[in-house]
Amino acid sequence: MEDFDSKFIDAIANFFKRKISKIILSRQAAFDLIDFAQSNYPNEFIAALGGKIKEESLIIDRIYYQPFFSGKASATTSFKIPIGTGEIGTVHSHPSGTNRPSGQDLSLFSKKGVVHIIISYPYEERNISLYDFHGNELNFEID
Ligand code: ZN
Repeated sequence: MEDFDSKFIDAIANFFKRKISKIILSRQAAFDLIDFAQSNYPNEFIAALGGKIKEESLIIDRIYYQPFFSGKASATTSFKIPIGTGEIGTVHSHPSGTNRPSGQDLSLFSKKGVVHIIISYPYEERNISLYDFHGNELNFEID
C-alpha cells in the first residue's frame, strides 16, 4: 500500500514539476465540502478544488463552489468549470453512500485536474476519499 501510494504521488509531483511527499486537505476546505454536500443532499454537488504546494506538501485549501452545477441525476455530466490557475481538480458528492468512482467519474478525473475528491453520504470526514487522475485512491491528512 505504501509503495503504491508513493508511486501515485510521484505522478502528481511530475505533473506539478515539484517534489511532493504528502497531500493535505485543509480543515477549512474539509468543513466547506462537508457543508456543501449536506446542503445539497439528496442532490449531488460538484466543485473545483484549489491548492498550492508548500514544503513538499500539496495542500488542498479551496473549494470553488457554483451551486447551479448540482443536479439530481449526476452532477458530473454538467461539470464545465475550466481548470485554471490554482484549480487542481474536482470534488463531488455521492448521496448513494459509496466512495467508488463511477466510469463517468474516471472519465472526468482524467480530463480535469490531477486530484479528485469524492465525499459520500452521510458526509463526515471519514467519508472523504481522494483519488489521482487515474482513479487510484491516495492517502491524505486533514490539517
Ligand atoms: Zn461520482
